[in-house]
Amino acid sequence: MSRIAYVNGAYVHQRAARVHIEDRGFQFADGVYEVCAIRRGVLIDMDLHLERLAWSLDQLRIDVPVSWRALRIILAEMVRRNGAPAFGLLYIQVTRGTAPRNHAFPTGIAPTLVMTVRTLPAPAYAVLQRSVAVITRPDLRWRRPDIKSVSLLPNVLGKQEAMEAGAYEAWLVDDEQRITEGTASNAWIISREGEVITRPADRSILNGITRRVVLRLARRLGLVVSERAFSVAEAKQAREAFFTGTTAFVKPVSRIDDTAIGNGEIGPHTDELLRAYLAHVEAQAANSVPVARR
Ligand code: PMP
Repeated sequence: MSRIAYVNGAYVHQRAARVHIEDRGFQFADGVYEVCAIRRGVLIDMDLHLERLAWSLDQLRIDVPVSWRALRIILAEMVRRNGAPAFGLLYIQVTRGTAPRNHAFPTGIAPTLVMTVRTLPAPAYAVLQRSVAVITRPDLRWRRPDIKSVSLLPNVLGKQEAMEAGAYEAWLVDDEQRITEGTASNAWIISREGEVITRPADRSILNGITRRVVLRLARRLGLVVSERAFSVAEAKQAREAFFTGTTAFVKPVSRIDDTAIGNGEIGPHTDELLRAYLAHVEAQAANSVPVARR
């Protein structure tokens, strides 16, 4: 089935989808994005993603490209036109628009709105529960990583370094040797005392939607949860470590740099949280009306 993209009002074959070379997303990374999982044709936690998109746009003073009602219709149509997959990812990007290159905001232009859908193998517990290694690297990003901007160069470089080191993710480290987050995920540890720890969602990290859901699930499971910064040294002494994200779900960590975490298998609390998160996704997929049938 051919992939259908959305570009400024038109549904087009992805091969033929184009934006202007003077789009400010291309020239200045002057744009924001969201990635939302699709499960059985249902967009998972869509309201939370749209809420964050609205906030990112507002922070950068980029206009909302179409009404929120229209945006929801386009989202549904994109899922439908791409076959309402059993599993996939929907990508939304909004840039400030196209104008002759000049740093200051141009006036009288419309934002660019682009969407794509990628179909992927359904998330199987057997695969998700496999532990992966992470490396630590200095956090080289600007001071507003809480805004989901398309300016991702340090994230790209960090992820590439992880790949080259045989790891899956890089955890970024601030000037005080505390972990901020992963290049595309939020970082968590579980202390020897069983405390579930993740950095507070201040301006130093992206407040992940998965992070928010997992925090809620952890509290519901009766785990002791603490939103506080933790150091690299503390992480290396943790009993369990994992990271969360729309594409990673809840991913156990077996190694941080050269330090093994646990016995290389998923730890009991991480496992509990992965199962709870999977149940959350499946319940939403089962209880919502798939967009294709709405
Ligand atoms: N932090 C960063 C830097 C990310 O890119 C992502 C993934 N977009 C996350 C955290 C996780 O966010 P979410 O759970 O909303 O996917």
